[in-house]
Amino acid sequence: MGDRLELSGLGFETRAIHGGSGTDPTTGAVNTPVHLSSTFRQDAVGVNRGFEYARSGNPTRASLEANLAELEGADFGFAFASGMAAEDAVMRLLGPGDHMVLPTDAYGGTYRLATRVFQPAGLQVATSDLGALEDDLRPNTKMVWIETPTNPLLRVIDIEAVAEIAHHHGSLLVVDSTFATPWLQQPLRLGADIVVHSTTKYLGGHSDVVGGFTATNDPDLAEHLGFLQNAVGAVPGPFDCFLVQRGVKTLAVRMERHCSNALAVVELLREHRAVETVLHPSLADHDGHDVASRQMRGFGGIVSFTLSGGEPAALEVCRRTRIFTLAESLGAVESLIEHPSRMTHASVTGSSNEVPSDLVRLSVGLETADDLVADLRQALDALVS
Ligand SMILES: *Cc1c(COP(=O)(O)O)cnc(C)c1O
Repeated sequence: MGDRLELSGLGFETRAIHGGSGTDPTTGAVNTPVHLSSTFRQDAVGVNRGFEYARSGNPTRASLEANLAELEGADFGFAFASGMAAEDAVMRLLGPGDHMVLPTDAYGGTYRLATRVFQPAGLQVATSDLGALEDDLRPNTKMVWIETPTNPLLRVIDIEAVAEIAHHHGSLLVVDSTFATPWLQQPLRLGADIVVHSTTKYLGGHSDVVGGFTATNDPDLAEHLGFLQNAVGAVPGPFDCFLVQRGVKTLAVRMERHCSNALAVVELLREHRAVETVLHPSLADHDGHDVASRQMRGFGGIVSFTLSGGEPAALEVCRRTRIFTLAESLGAVESLIEHPSRMTHASVTGSSNEVPSDLVRLSVGLETADDLVADLRQALDALVS
């Protein structure tokens, strides 16, 4: 392989940029090539160079998997065609009759996958607000699934505390860490058994690819996840893997600016009289502020808020912003605005996971902070003039 850079002891940014397969040993290319080959020549029957068929493994994918696993402090990582495909593989670790606990404000797609795909196949699914998690666990609870910070209410869950409760009951803890990315928090280091990501969001970071990832330190879970990745086959193509790995190289600098731009936006929202409440872990009066300060390197780039004028005002703000683009998704360079109850979370309306109809969610991007603040200000001013 030539002289590969030894990553241990190096900082996050260095490991993000030089991780994965590193400089291509055959050509010296500094980027991992996009290996567009579905099959690989075998040197003899049963003798190959680590790859035989691209569903089972592809060098571009292997590079991304190694890179992300290393950043999560994981021994094993698996890339998928979407965040939901990664979640599907994780839920397939369970079987009929097993019980799984989801938070009441889980990502809508997670709730839909658990209740409408796995529950009909015999999995028992319960939601919990995690306030008294012990009461929601049963003898057959095999998996506790959390997200932190949550989408779209930005609750912060104490991963270490939940891991202890879950493990005490013989249950696995899975953390969907999409909102945080490994730059802000590393759940496996805090006791989680499995971490999952939608790489579509901050990891890719440019709204140009859909992908998923899951990682663990447990060899048995890894073997099962690797089996599922190959057996079910929801794998990402090599170009998608390349795009995600390219995004990972700038993750740290992007996250820093996402976080600081979000703080500027929070300051405006806090003082504007059209706004009722602002939800962001940076706020000292936010329920999760102390845990976030301990568990995360920064407070993240997603900000939610409710409006004094209720749902009509929420819809009006979404109509009036110019730089904040009305769209689903989050975590990319451009700022987005959305109305969760009618957009990203429409599928959970009427369930325990329903979100308030006067809520607006912002994904604060990397544009000039003053421009973002001015854009929101003009949209909010129109509501109170
Ligand atoms: C987007 C998202 C997912 C699903 O990922 P896809 O890449 O869209 O399939 C899962 N969890 C969270 C928190 C998300 O934001």
